[in-house]
Amino acid sequence: MPTTLKISKQLIQKGDEIKWSKVSGNTWQLLTDNSNSVKIIYDVKTTRPFVGTTYVDENRAYILPAAVCFFIDGMIDHSAQITIKPIAGWTRVATGLDSVAGKNFTYTAPDFDVLYDSPLLVGNLEELPSFTVKGIPHRFIGYQLGNFDKVQFMNDLKKVIETATSMMGDIPYKHYTFISIGPGQGGIEHLNSASVSFNGAGLSTEDGKLRLYHFLAHEYFHHYNVKRIRPIELGPFDYDNGSRTKMLWVSEGLSVYYEYMTVQRAGLSTSDELFNAFRTNMLAFEGKPGRLYQTLEQSSYDTWSDGPFGRTGDDVNKTISYYDKGPVVGLLFDFKIRELTQNKRSLDDVMRYLYHEYYQKKKRGFTENEFNAACEKIAGASMADEFKYVSTTTELNYPKYFAYAGLNIDTTSKELPGAYLGFTNRERNDTVFISAVDWESPAWNAGIRPRQPLLEVNGTKATAKLLKETIDKANPGDKITLTFFADNSKRSVEIIFGKKKEKSFHISQIDNPTPLQKKIFESWLKE
Ligand SMILES: [Zn+2]
Repeated sequence: MPTTLKISKQLIQKGDEIKWSKVSGNTWQLLTDNSNSVKIIYDVKTTRPFVGTTYVDENRAYILPAAVCFFIDGMIDHSAQITIKPIAGWTRVATGLDSVAGKNFTYTAPDFDVLYDSPLLVGNLEELPSFTVKGIPHRFIGYQLGNFDKVQFMNDLKKVIETATSMMGDIPYKHYTFISIGPGQGGIEHLNSASVSFNGAGLSTEDGKLRLYHFLAHEYFHHYNVKRIRPIELGPFDYDNGSRTKMLWVSEGLSVYYEYMTVQRAGLSTSDELFNAFRTNMLAFEGKPGRLYQTLEQSSYDTWSDGPFGRTGDDVNKTISYYDKGPVVGLLFDFKIRELTQNKRSLDDVMRYLYHEYYQKKKRGFTENEFNAACEKIAGASMADEFKYVSTTTELNYPKYFAYAGLNIDTTSKELPGAYLGFTNRERNDTVFISAVDWESPAWNAGIRPRQPLLEVNGTKATAKLLKETIDKANPGDKITLTFFADNSKRSVEIIFGKKKEKSFHISQIDNPTPLQKKIFESWLKE
């Protein structure tokens, strides 16, 4: 969190140490004379390499100005210049900041908001062959990128960026940099850069490649959706308090939607892979009872208390993730708008409208009413039924919307083969622990909960191997006795194996689509 310096006057001599005090969590007050220069020396603690934290070791430095650089109270709109003094052997800096001509390792930002949105990675970094889109350079620079076909990768990345920028019709930056901080998990979007954990080894399988392309498309698309197309609460950013909004499902959920669509339209996934991506979200969302308790807008608003993927522990059953429901609702919105307008307009038009109207013209974010009005303006009709999918827990009517594009979706519950208890486990230090328990499964109804140690299976000491063998041999209707530890006591329960039912959400094309269905399907995939 950026820190504020408050300056107070007190007579001091040049070279004197000045008095200072910490006046709030991230504000320091300096008692200075009118002197126009004060030198501040401070250490920054760094602990782990992660896109959201500053990190320095002997190989590289990842600097988040938001966590490292002060701004002076009331002067956040002043320009800033930052000079890096790299240690010997460090040759390169990856950052979205403009470099200062004629000065090595020196960068400038027009104001502190831009500085705070521009991390810097310094080290002996590798830069992949850069490319331009409409004359604008795009770079991929990083630490320990790994071995993979780098030319092919950059060609594919170029297609992703060409697809996203031609859909939006404008490129709002002068250069863009993917800052790859090394292997790991996570990404954070910025105005003209994205910090990503990246390991080129992931590109060696088709699945891994698709996952990586989706991830990079997601972080890239955020420079439109959230950095510029944004809920009104998300800017100017309140560095002291954070910001709550009911529309993170737009910022995150629709960025997931467009990561899938961008990769698809760039020719980097098949329609089956696209369907599967949506199915994964549907299965995750429909598989948790939280869908009956928490709305999409509540999950957005409660993200600071619940976490971005919903609550954990037993409460996991009361929450949903806008990363799962968001893209699916986005798909329903898109099909609905295409149906209402005879495929003349789409969700893409809503995104373009929000960009032009609020980011470019009004230079601000939009309210919920303005978002809804934008959808209805593009659709030319009421979308009250669709807005209910955001503000209530109304069950999603998939078949109705998929039919608009001539698609079938299988929403019937089918029994899966085998006997079913409904929990997963993992073994650690000779003890088996329950990890996840399906809601209302035989195990759930018997009181089995995550993190409980499982002691015995049918009276024999529990091991993951024994448990698996016992379940594999069982038939629905058979009994099993599990002994576990709960509420400080040992408990044994007899559980009857059940059958697992699941909706497949399998998506397929209908045999004889109408011309409109065909048009909607084809332009949705390609446009
Ligand atoms: Zn995101």
